[in-house]
Amino acid sequence: MVTGLFAQLWQTRPEQIHAWYLAMYVDAVEWVELPNVLGMSQYADGGIMASKPYIATGRYIAKMSNYCDHCRYKPDEAETENACPFTTLYWEFLLKHRARFQQHPRLALQVKHLDNQSEDKRAAIAKRAQWVRAHYPANHYT
Ligand code: SF4
Repeated sequence: MVTGLFAQLWQTRPEQIHAWYLAMYVDAVEWVELPNVLGMSQYADGGIMASKPYIATGRYIAKMSNYCDHCRYKPDEAETENACPFTTLYWEFLLKHRARFQQHPRLALQVKHLDNQSEDKRAAIAKRAQWVRAHYPANHYT
């Protein structure tokens, strides 16, 4: 869940995260892994298998695990220097794809929430996202 979420938020090329799972997990079988990764996890089929992109903030990870208990980052924060990278990238994802999802039945509310943020806050999130991308370099960003 966490790796797929990060790949989605990072906007890794779907075929590359698919190849990575196949390479990393000895029990990965392509006919099972491919639809789950491309369809469910990465929304790379445009919404045939999943009704929305599988995106979430660090708050979701905090709710579903104890990973965040001793982390230096704060799952509730998106733009500060303590911001959880998942939370920052979540809002960046919505900023980038706002037009596509503003009427979406399952994401429109989140887009509205984004729209209700101040201009300064949205700019600060975008700036923090740039910082995250600069400090977690990946070759697969599209
Ligand atoms: S707060 Fe830390 S452990 Fe929790 S999701 Fe963010 S980076 Fe991961």
